[in-house]
This record gives sequence, structure tokens and C-alpha cells, in this order.
Amino acid sequence: MSDMFSLKGKVIIVTGGTGVLGGGFVKGIALQGGIPVILGQNAEKGKERVDEVKAMGGEAYFISTNVLEVTELEKAKNEILEKYGKIDGLVNGAGGNVPEGVLPPTEDVFNLNIEGMKKALVLNVWGTVIPVQVFGPEIAKTGNGSIVNISSVSPKRAITRVLGYSMGKAAIDIYTKWFAVEMAERYGDAVRINSIMPGFFLTTQNKNLLTNPDGTLTDRGNKIVRNTPFKRFGHPDELIGALIWLLSDASKFVTGMDIGVDGGFTINSGV
Ligand code: NAD
Repeated sequence: MSDMFSLKGKVIIVTGGTGVLGGGFVKGIALQGGIPVILGQNAEKGKERVDEVKAMGGEAYFISTNVLEVTELEKAKNEILEKYGKIDGLVNGAGGNVPEGVLPPTEDVFNLNIEGMKKALVLNVWGTVIPVQVFGPEIAKTGNGSIVNISSVSPKRAITRVLGYSMGKAAIDIYTKWFAVEMAERYGDAVRINSIMPGFFLTTQNKNLLTNPDGTLTDRGNKIVRNTPFKRFGHPDELIGALIWLLSDASKFVTGMDIGVDGGFTINSGV
């Protein structure tokens, strides 16, 4: 039974594995015997993550890559194939909010920063679609591949101020469903695609919205905690179970699904 969840020997790319949630993904994959290949832009963090996995007795690799650049992704693909000979999975962890795309509370709603919003859209949508285009064919070749996108609660309920980000994640939601069907038409069950919907976790990309410089919560941070039935933010390790399930044989008949890990945020009416 426990073997169903094994990732032993599986080579799994984690874009944004340099980030806070990505760090949890990397650790989780390594704990199940997988080999996380971290793609990100912060070489120092990347090296740190690799060292952490090696200290656990595992194997990991970092390649400095911008997920929006096809040539960099192609280069990374060749490097991975040369080193490991295959790619079993992909976790699209690179993404997040973009400060310029956030509507300040006092700003007129008819004065949205369109350029800032576009940046959030581009990073979240194309930063997911393009890596799938580049790595997907290799993943399908394994006959048992899995791709995991990272969505958000923001396309499920209206979350104030972050429209560009929410639109980006809404696009990921339909992309996951659409791609699951089109891929199955062509590759059968050789490769699956699903998404995880995290609730609120304190990380780099949302720190300024949720915490004050002295570390206390902003009004927005407090509102989120009040509206989360578990009355707290999530911990990155709490996403690992869903991720392992989606990457492993334990979810072999699951595709096109969005798995919520949100402390009850999206099912709460607030009453
Ligand atoms: P984070 O800022 O800690 O991590 C994001 C990582 O992506 C960073 O390491 C960053 O360098 C990397 N990145 C950004 N642009 C990149 C690019 N062009 N190429 C390569 N790497 C790039 O933030 P996080 O909260 O850990 O975010 C991870 C994912 O989880 C994001 O998609 C985010 O939208 C999503 N998410 C986060 C929360 C939350 O509460 N933190 C909730 C829902 C969804």
C-alpha cells in the first residue's frame, strides 16, 4: 500500500523550487525517494535547497532558469536528460503576485494598473503553460507521468486588490481541465495534469500584503485568518501530502482536478 505513494527514482522538475512553497515541494519529493530538479532564478537559494536534500541523504539538482524563456527551458531539458536520462514529472511552482498589479485600497477601481496586472498574468499563466510545452513530451514518454500546477483560492472567491493575479490563476484552472482532456485524447493515461489550490501561506511574494515591517499582521492578514475556519495560515509542509499523492501512482486515475489545501477558507460562508 505504501509503495503507491513512492516517488523512488523519479526525476521531478520543480519550477520556483527556490521559493517558500517550492522549498516544501522539493523536500516532500525527496522524502518519498524522488529526485527534485529545481529550476529558478536565485542560484544561492537553489544551492541551499540542493544541500538540504543531500543532507537528508537524497539527490537533487539546480539549474538557473527563467520559466518564461523557452530557450532557457530547452537548455535545462537537455541538461536534465543528459544527467538523468528521463523526466517523470513537473511541478509548476514559479509564480505569485506582482506588487505593481495590486490595487491600493484608496485607488479608484477604474484606475487599475493594467501593465502591472499583465505582469502577474504573464508570470502565472505563461510561466505554467510554457514549461509544460517544453517538458511535457518527455514526461509523456515515461508512460506514467504527472504534472502539477499551482492554483489559488483567488479565482474561487473574489479576493480584493489582486485582480491580475486572480485572473492568472483563473486561467490556470481552465488550462488544467482543458489540457487534461486534450492530453488524454492523444496520450491516454500516460501523463496526467492536476492542480493544487493552496489557501494562505506566509511567503515572499505576499509578505508585504499580509505582514507589517514589525512582523505583526496587516488588517488584510487578520481578515484572512478570521475567515479561515482553522484560524491560521498554512505551513508549506502541509501541501506535501497532496503533492505526493498527485505525483505518485496513488492518483493514477486522477486528471484535470484541483485539490484544495486551504484550512476551510473556500467552503466557509463566514456566517
Ligand atoms: P515565493 O515568492 O516564495 O516563491 C515563488 C518562486 O518563484 C520564487 O523563488 C521566485 O524566484 C520564483 N520565480 C518567479 N518568477 C520566476 C521566473 N520567471 N522564472 C523562474 N522562477 C521564478 O512564493 P510562494 O508563495 O511560495 O509561491 C509559489 C506558488 O504558490 C505561486 O504560484 C503562488 O502564486 C502560489 N500560491 C501561493 C499562496 C500563498 O499563500 N503563498 C497561495 C496560493 C498559491
